[in-house]
Amino acid sequence: PSQTAAARPAVTRRFTGGIPATVATDLLVPLADGRVTDYANFDHGASAPCLESVRAAVEAALPSYASVHRGNGYASRITTQWYERARAEVHAFVGARSDDQVVFTRQTTDALNLLARCLPSNATVIVFETEHHAALLPWPAERTVRLAAPDSPASAVSAVANALREAPEGPRLVVVTGASNVTGEIFPVAEIAAVAKAHGARICLDAAQLAPHRVVDIAALEVDWVALSGHKLYAPYGAGALVGRADWLNAANPYLAGGGATSAVTGDTTVWNEGPSRHEGGSPNVIGAIALAAACAAISKHRDAIEQHEQFLLGRLRDGLANIPGVKTYSLFGHDADRVGTVTFTIEGLTSTLVSAALSAEYGIGVRDGKFCAHLLTGHLLAGDPTSSTAVRASLGLGVTREHVERLIEAIRTLATKGP
Ligand code: PLP
Repeated sequence: PSQTAAARPAVTRRFTGGIPATVATDLLVPLADGRVTDYANFDHGASAPCLESVRAAVEAALPSYASVHRGNGYASRITTQWYERARAEVHAFVGARSDDQVVFTRQTTDALNLLARCLPSNATVIVFETEHHAALLPWPAERTVRLAAPDSPASAVSAVANALREAPEGPRLVVVTGASNVTGEIFPVAEIAAVAKAHGARICLDAAQLAPHRVVDIAALEVDWVALSGHKLYAPYGAGALVGRADWLNAANPYLAGGGATSAVTGDTTVWNEGPSRHEGGSPNVIGAIALAAACAAISKHRDAIEQHEQFLLGRLRDGLANIPGVKTYSLFGHDADRVGTVTFTIEGLTSTLVSAALSAEYGIGVRDGKFCAHLLTGHLLAGDPTSSTAVRASLGLGVTREHVERLIEAIRTLATKGP
């Protein structure tokens, strides 16, 4: 909605850690009764607003970028440096080992599909059915073992161990999320990685939901690959990465065959590059990579403050919802599970679509409703619910304030007790 600058309330600092979020400060939303409020964005789990430092990095690059790895002019050489520096920043952000490589992709979905294309032909994939579709669907169906929803971190570890024991000979890949996009719960990645290693298997971590909230350290976790998305890390859309071991990637055909992926083409042969460029055919998204790297730098710098901010708000939100009759929240591992700031809930007697529409129109609150691209997980969580097959998700991040959380709790209380 268009509002004049004068009509806007003074922009307040929303985050004590010193990272200003750009979006929530500026968005004003007219409510159904004509009032205007600032937008309470509880959909960071889908995409997070762009940080000021990210915007500054992009704005600095926009006037002078040129071709990457192709031109010999000054601007091309500088742009190539920016691109490779961005790669190094992402490498450091996930604590990658010196021989790990960073392949820039469009997002996590793209990164996991890239890995799927690089699987050895006789590989078996082991994945929980609770995964986001991006981590559940890219693998060859006939060689994928889907594990039932675990009910505790320990049962997740033992399910992987059992599956590996029974898996056929040959390469095996375990795919696991760091944090569920539906319940926010943190999976025991280090323990699962240790089990995978003991069985000679590889492991890929889907860090789309974990990386914005917690340190991801490939080397410490002993995982082989990590996939992440820039737009969940406070950068704009269009850039993500697959970071990790080079061997399967160098042995596979290029994901995107074309210019930049090859060093020599003759009438009947093509020599494909080794390293990240093998899978980055075509002109790269250099601005996306710069944005992603700037986001990684800002998040790394403010890690503790981000976590404190989110855990404080999460505690308040969960306490508030726990006291409202008719409101049910969903979990795999139970009340005390370690989790990032994502809460999925239903209100008895109201559809999730109605709840999310009312939160938006009446209270200026943005949430997501539905099955969250994790149909098997929502089906599992809501299995006992006679009326609903979909739920509402509130996901926290730097654009969320204490006032937003209180507004959400009170809105849900009103909806649950009086209806929309
Ligand atoms: N994995 C998880 C856990 C997610 O939450 C998401 C997106 O919500 C994805 C993967 C896919 O991310 P993208 O849409 O950026 O590819």
